[in-house]
Amino acid sequence: MTAYQSLSASELTSLQTVLKKQYEEIKASRLHLDMSRGKPSPDQLNLSIEMLNVLTADDLAGTVSGVDVRNYGLLEGLSEAREMFAELLDVDSDEVLIGGNSSLNLMYDTVARAMQFGTAPGETPWGQQENRKFLCPVPGYDRHFAITETFGFELVLIPMTAEGPDMDLVEQYVNNDPTVKGIWCVPKYSNPDGYTYSDETVRRFAALNPAASDFRIFWDNAYCIHDLTDTPDKLLSLMDECKKQGTEDLPYFFASTSKISFSGAGVAAMAMSRKNLEWTKKFLSIQTIGYDKINQLRHVRFFRNAEGLRAHMQKHRALIQPRFELVFNTLDREIRGLGIADWTHPNGGYFFSLNVLPGCAKRVVELCKEAGVVLTSAGASFPHGIDPNDTNIRIAPTYPSLEDLGKAAEVLCLCVKLAAAEKLLASM
Ligand code: PLP
Repeated sequence: MTAYQSLSASELTSLQTVLKKQYEEIKASRLHLDMSRGKPSPDQLNLSIEMLNVLTADDLAGTVSGVDVRNYGLLEGLSEAREMFAELLDVDSDEVLIGGNSSLNLMYDTVARAMQFGTAPGETPWGQQENRKFLCPVPGYDRHFAITETFGFELVLIPMTAEGPDMDLVEQYVNNDPTVKGIWCVPKYSNPDGYTYSDETVRRFAALNPAASDFRIFWDNAYCIHDLTDTPDKLLSLMDECKKQGTEDLPYFFASTSKISFSGAGVAAMAMSRKNLEWTKKFLSIQTIGYDKINQLRHVRFFRNAEGLRAHMQKHRALIQPRFELVFNTLDREIRGLGIADWTHPNGGYFFSLNVLPGCAKRVVELCKEAGVVLTSAGASFPHGIDPNDTNIRIAPTYPSLEDLGKAAEVLCLCVKLAAAEKLLASM
């Protein structure tokens, strides 16, 4: 394939005419397709539907972990649930706290607690400190950025690489600037690139020597077992590495079954050093008497343990992998080698990044929308919704049917070509 950059102005103009014609034909077919949502498809949700039948009235009347799950108590959650999440998060079970239905909620509450009460006894609450900064690896998860934006942090962009965030920059900020209070991380199959942090990156996180005594790493392992190939990525245990360095108070770990069982009706968990856990429980015990243990029990009975969770993820993989492959095959066929886009090709997770020519992402999303294909807004993966290069588009292939996805991917490729031709012609 010839790169668009090597075409003359007249060749590009003729190409644009052909592409426009194809685009108008597609527009006339009045499509209604949505590739914007990183949600499980209905087929995936059906995989867990039997969970609703695993608890009988007799089960509930007895005790589990020595407690009656129908009643108040056990702020940290059922021990069986703590053990299950401990394995997923690579920590000890007494470092795990089981939450409610949403890990994002746990992250918000963790930031809110630090704002109001500080991160440890004797620390000044974040909210009483001026010029607070939070590091945001980009592209990243918009809802992470929104939490720290809401609490008034200056959001500092840290470029992502295939090995994780640019650690030279992270170290420079964290080890020298006492106003840097935290960093958002999705260490496995990052949202949206699908990158997994390398062993060296994890070790460098553990070896951070923060200028601020109340600096924390928000390690959101949302996609810890969401593998899509036979050669899944492996993530080193940050907690183990921190223990070697004596920095185990730095990280807060998060995960949930939102993309394992039911989105928004699963079980979320967080983990942290015993010292951090004591401090957290001091305030959490005021906030709630305890989370929903019946839902925890339902999950434990259905999945049994971490191995059961992994086996269940193979069923998800059977549904998701063909969707990813369909989009990758379409991109390969339609736009590879044209010099107008590149994309990540993760071994798992829910997303990948499509990077188009600088200044073209918004235009591609707009063209797709006019042709009836909704994509995640350009810029959504950056703080304040602004991608400085206007190049990144988050692609979410899990939700649409294979048929819809095939059509949507073709429209996407056409719009990438059209936007690139427009851009290159305008710069001639
Ligand atoms: N963390 C990441 C990185 C996500 O991509 C998502 C959802 O897309 C969440 C957290 C949300 O998790 P939960 O449903 O447990 O709040």
